[in-house]
Amino acid sequence: MTQVVTYEVRDRIAWVTLNRPEYRNAQNSAMTYALDAAFTRAVDDEEVAVIVLRGAGDHFCAGHDIGTPGRDVDRSFERRAVIWWDHVDKQGGDQRFARESEVYLGMCRRWREIPKPMIAMVHGACIAGGLMLAWSCDFIVASEDAFFSDPVVRMGIPGVEYFAHPWVMNPRAAKEFLFTGDRFSAARARELGMVNRVVPRESLESTVTGIAQRIAQMPRFGLALTKKAVNQAEDLQGMRAGMDSVFGLHHLAHAHNAETSADSLGGLDARAMAARNKAAGEGS
Ligand code: ZN
Repeated sequence: MTQVVTYEVRDRIAWVTLNRPEYRNAQNSAMTYALDAAFTRAVDDEEVAVIVLRGAGDHFCAGHDIGTPGRDVDRSFERRAVIWWDHVDKQGGDQRFARESEVYLGMCRRWREIPKPMIAMVHGACIAGGLMLAWSCDFIVASEDAFFSDPVVRMGIPGVEYFAHPWVMNPRAAKEFLFTGDRFSAARARELGMVNRVVPRESLESTVTGIAQRIAQMPRFGLALTKKAVNQAEDLQGMRAGMDSVFGLHHLAHAHNAETSADSLGGLDARAMAARNKAAGEGS
C-alpha cells in the first residue's frame, strides 16, 4: 500500500509530503492521521529544526476528500486532537460536530501549535481543506503557478472549518475570496500578506531550503517561544474565539443542508463542485 504521507529528513529539515497525487492530494482521515504522526515524529526528532509541508505531483492539495474511492468518513481512528466521543456510531449534527472538531478544526489548531517552524511549500492548487494545511504553517512559500480558493460557499457553507480567512488576509479581501469563490493567484495572495514569497516553480524547493537553513541557525527554544508569541498575538486579535464562533455557523449550514437538500454538503460532491467552479468562470 502506498503511504498517503511520506517523511524524510535532510540537512535538519523534515520534508513531510502529501502523497495522493492521483487525487490531487485530497485529504481523507487516513492522511490527516498520517500527517499528525509525521509532525509528531519531526517534533520529537532532535535533528529536525524546521518542518516543510509539500504535496507530491502537480498540486499542493485540492481539499478534503469528498469523493475519491479512499474517502473514509465512516472510519474510526485513535483520536488525538480533542477529547470528544467517536463520530462513527453517531447521527446528524452529533456525528458531524464530533468528526470535524477532531479531524478538521482540532487537528489544524494542534498543528499550528507545533513548537518548530513550519513552512508550507505550495505549488498548483491549494483549495479549501488545502488552505487549512497551508494556514496552519508559519510561512507560505509559493510557486508562480500556485493558486488559492475556498469555494465552500457554493455549498451554502461559510468557508472551511479552520476559519482563518479574516486573519490571514484583510477582512474585505476575505469577503471577496469567499463571496466569489475565485482563485487568488500566488501574486495576489502575496500582495494580501497571506503568502511570504512567490518564486518560479523550478526554484521553489531551493528557496524553501534556503529559508529553512537560515531559520535552523536560530536556537530551538528561542524559535519555539517566538512562534508562541506571534500565535498568542493572533489569538488576542480574536482568531481563536472567532474560529469557535464560526465553527457554530459552519455546523448550522451543514445541518440546514442536511434538512433541505440531499446531504450536509448541499448535494455537491467533488465533481459537482468542479463543474460549478468552472461554470462560475474562476476569476483572477
Ligand atoms: Zn464541515
